[in-house]
Parts: sequence; structure tokens; C-alpha cells
Amino acid sequence: PEPPGPRAIRRLHESLINRIAAGEIIHRPASALKELLENSLDAGSTSIQVIVKDGGMKLLQIQDNGCGIRKDDLSLLAERFTTSKLTTFSDLSKLTTYGFRGEALASISHVSHLTVITKTKSDTCAWKAAYADGVLVPSKAGYTPDPKPCAGNNGTTIIIEDMFYNTPTRLSALRGSSEEYARILDVMTKYSVHNSKVSFVCKKSGSMSPELSTPSCSDTSLAIRQLYGHSIAKELLHVTTSSTSNDSTEAVDEDDPEAWSAEAYFTNANYQGKKTAFLLFINHRLVESSRIKRSIESIYSGILPKGSSPFVYLSINLDPRSVDVNVHPTKREVHFLNEEAIIERISDAIQQKLAGQSQSRVFEYQT
Ligand code: ADP
Ligand code: MG
Repeated sequence: PEPPGPRAIRRLHESLINRIAAGEIIHRPASALKELLENSLDAGSTSIQVIVKDGGMKLLQIQDNGCGIRKDDLSLLAERFTTSKLTTFSDLSKLTTYGFRGEALASISHVSHLTVITKTKSDTCAWKAAYADGVLVPSKAGYTPDPKPCAGNNGTTIIIEDMFYNTPTRLSALRGSSEEYARILDVMTKYSVHNSKVSFVCKKSGSMSPELSTPSCSDTSLAIRQLYGHSIAKELLHVTTSSTSNDSTEAVDEDDPEAWSAEAYFTNANYQGKKTAFLLFINHRLVESSRIKRSIESIYSGILPKGSSPFVYLSINLDPRSVDVNVHPTKREVHFLNEEAIIERISDAIQQKLAGQSQSRVFEYQT
């Protein structure tokens, strides 16, 4: 048969382009939540509460007690590449706050109904604004789209409703609401371990008792005990290591771009979990690195029976200039300068601690 003739090339509607782009950044409710948690932490919050309905697809609401957003900034808030965290290109490399490209809220506004309620300390009331496709929407047809005054506490509440209502392919790629909820809890749990001084609450809408609730001003070991249980907490080892010396808490030279420091909490050979729990934070962002994961798994393959797995929480701080977490929009799999050497140093520290621990046990048996 004859091949079909050429068809006219047409430009996609801008709203469709934006929706597709947004779907690349916001994959599912848990990825939206990760961005929102980072924003709340950037804003200096000490208390963060999340309410979820239908796995976050119907409703994902996050309330914090951070610095709030100025009313005058609300009209720009959900536009793409608007951010309070970056002004010049050279800032890109110096930035230590979490996200910085100003894409999260914009993306969310393209694939859901987004409402923001916010109050700064100097505001006399809170302001409420609704967004669609990157811009403010009027509360009623014919009205000017201005933020409306309302009652509220200092801080910010972000309300996301009907996620992916206009992007059916994204919606159909989601799992059931209980699996999406499990992913939300997983993200919350990991951020709660990493931010043990901040209080986190996560619950289903309409439910009295939260699934996750942590106190403020806890510490890392307590947080791991509370969130991952006693069987992990009682077998936990701890190391710190850095570019300057092993096992020191000495401050790292701020001006040295190759300076780094790392801290790890990990289980000893007595703990044999079914599935590896691996929490990796680089510069306070939850990220993935298959290289680091492989390196740690190979340590444990020597000391754990086949089929059993450890718990490992690892936090690495590097000069922001040497990390490219932000190269890919989803910012998950990271790479950084001197990656191999740093991973080796961290792995060695973990391995030594594990070896030292099993030696002291042998010693105990002998005496
Ligand atoms: P980015 O975090 O990359 O700057 P976002 O789209 O996530 O981009 O947020 C845009 C801006 O909105 C932030 O730079 C910040 O000024 C403000 N913002 C967002 N969430 C909060 C919050 N919870 N508290 C205070 N300000 C916020
Ligand atoms: Mg952000």
C-alpha cells in the first residue's frame, strides 16, 4: 500500500506544552509533596502538617509555620522560573537552599487546582489566592484576580486538589490511593529523620489520629527509633567523616570547594531486614544515587546472610558548586565532583565501624 502523505505540522497549544512539562517535574502526589516539604523547610518552619485525601489525588494539603509569602509576591508565585532564591547566574552555584528554579508551584498549578493561604509576621491578616496554569484566578467570574484577605496563622498553607485532572495519562500512570499514600508517608518519614528538630504530622483527611507524628526538637536516633522501630534503633551505629579527617565533627573549611562532610546511621550485623531501607540526603535534599547504594550494599553483602538487608541513613554535605542535583528537573539521581573518592571514604568509615563492632563482640565472648 501507498505510504500516507505528509501531514501538516502544527504548534501545540501553550497550555498543553506547560502541562506536559509540569508532568515531567511532578510525577505523582509524593513528588509534589517532596517539593512542598522542601519549600516549607526553606521557609524556616518548625512544624509541618500534611493532610491527604485519596492518596493525595483528591487533596494534598501542607501547612507550615514558616516565614510566609508577601502579599505582593502572590501574583508571581506560580509563574514559571519565579523564585526568591536565585537572582543571578552565579547564585546558581552558591545556593544552599533546597529547590531554586521556581518550577514546583508553577508545575503544580498546571496539573491541579492550587490554592495558597499565607501570612507573614508583619501581615495583620492572612491572604488567600487560587491559581490555574501559572496565574491567579478570580474567585468569581468577572472579578479581578486579587488575593483575598482571610483569617490564618503565620506561615503558609498550600492546598492541591484534583491532581492531574487535566492530564489523564499522568493520572492513569498512578497506582491506587493506598499505594500513593504509602509513598507520601515514605517521603514524610525520610524528611522527618533528616529534620529531627522539626515536628511533622501526616494524616488522612477526616481522620482523628495521624499516621505519622513527630515531636519538635528530637534527635536523629530518637527519630529513627520512633519512625523505623526499636529493632533497628537498638542495632544502630553512627559515624561522621569528612574531607579533613575521619570521625571528627570539626567544621569543614567553607572556602574549599572540595571540602565535604558526611554522617551515617546504619545497622550492624545483628539486624537483618527484609528490604534495604536507604535514606540518602545530599545537601539536605532527598536524592538517589545508584553508585552509593551499590557501594553500601557490597559492604553488607560481606556481613549479612543472603537475602537480608540493612537500614542506612546517610547525609552528605558538599560544596553546592560540586553537585549537579539540579541538572535534571526531577533532581533525584545525583552526581558530584570527586564522587568516587568520596564514596570510597564514606564506605571505608562504615566498614571500619562495622568491623570494629564485631571485633569487640568477639572480645567480649573471650573474656
Ligand atoms: P523554588 O522553591 O525553586 O524557589 P517554588 O515554585 O517551589 O520554587 O516556590 C516559589 C517561591 O515561592 C519560593 O522561592 C518561595 O519564595 C515561595 N514559597 C513557596 N512555598 C513557600 C512556603 N511554604 N513558605 C514561604 N515561601 C514559599
Ligand atoms: Mg521549591
